[in-house]
Amino acid sequence: MSRAPTLLFMSALDDPAEWVPALQRAWPELKVRVWPDAGHPDDVDFALVWKPEPGALRTFRNLRLIINLGAGIDAIAADETLPEGIPIVRLADEGQAEMMSGYVLLAVLRYHRNLHRFEEAKRAHRWTYIHPKPHAHTRVGLMGLGYLGAHAAQSLAAQGFRVSGWSRNPKTLPGIETFAGPDQRQAFLAQTDILVALLPATPDTHRLIDREALYALPRGASFVNVGRGSTVDEPALLAALRDGQIAEATLDVFEREPLPPEHPFWDMPQVTITPHLASVAVPETAARQIVANCRRALSGEAPDYAVDRRRGY
Ligand code: NDP
Repeated sequence: MSRAPTLLFMSALDDPAEWVPALQRAWPELKVRVWPDAGHPDDVDFALVWKPEPGALRTFRNLRLIINLGAGIDAIAADETLPEGIPIVRLADEGQAEMMSGYVLLAVLRYHRNLHRFEEAKRAHRWTYIHPKPHAHTRVGLMGLGYLGAHAAQSLAAQGFRVSGWSRNPKTLPGIETFAGPDQRQAFLAQTDILVALLPATPDTHRLIDREALYALPRGASFVNVGRGSTVDEPALLAALRDGQIAEATLDVFEREPLPPEHPFWDMPQVTITPHLASVAVPETAARQIVANCRRALSGEAPDYAVDRRRGY
């Protein structure tokens, strides 16, 4: 190639002042352009994008690789105008996985150590002793054992929790009891005290966590959703929370984001809400993977962590 390889950065959420230097440290010859200053469209080889406007990538005729600036590809998969035949990869970023596992650990430990009860007791000026239990007494189940899910499962297992996981295809993960497919969903849920959902938004996962799933959990189970809001039947979750079937929930993702101010979740003391930030891509760690994939694309090799747009993840 006679000109410098060129990457277009296109994200309204991520700061180019952090990303551009990180990418250039990983590949000094790489020219990085920041949307909307794309330069000549035919010079763009790679697009690093988060939730691009539908149709925004259509003009780049020489694209070799589309890199989704995150793990979930639902926004990009929905763009019917995306050029066909160009591989799409997602980030599989160690920094992002660590951040996600940190959030999951925090939420699980908070319930396991009854911190939410002590927060409530403090508000009432009430000294409330609840005898602590060893980690091994709490069974944590992860729905979704992908790049982030498996990392979170292993972080929980390293803390001594009894960890199981459920995925589409059978898996083997050291120290984790695994279940797969619709036939094993009930058995997986029946032995889960704290359910952590880390599923992608796909046509198959839409409202997968429905009334039947919530009531398959032991009564009084806790629920943490850090995957996607669309994977949960929210009216069913609301009913299960009101009824005590689900004792408490930590929700980072919702069917509608931002969560509308009138949504009943806001007024439920047993629901903790965070605004979709359980984990974000980390430029220092992600840049190396991005650059390695760009180099592979240039030399005609298949990229790592390619996603299947039709499957949705
Ligand atoms: P992966 O794509 O690596 O893994 C997805 C997992 O879900 C796999 O284990 C897959 O099963 C499983 N799965 C998919 N469809 C089904 C189904 N129909 N039934 C059962 N299991 C299914 O994703 P990651 O682990 O990297 O990330 C998970 C999701 O987390 C992302 O898609 C994204 O939406 C969300 N996310 C949220 C963030 C936040 O801040 N809240 C930040 C980053 C990501 P199998 O292994 O058998 O294919």
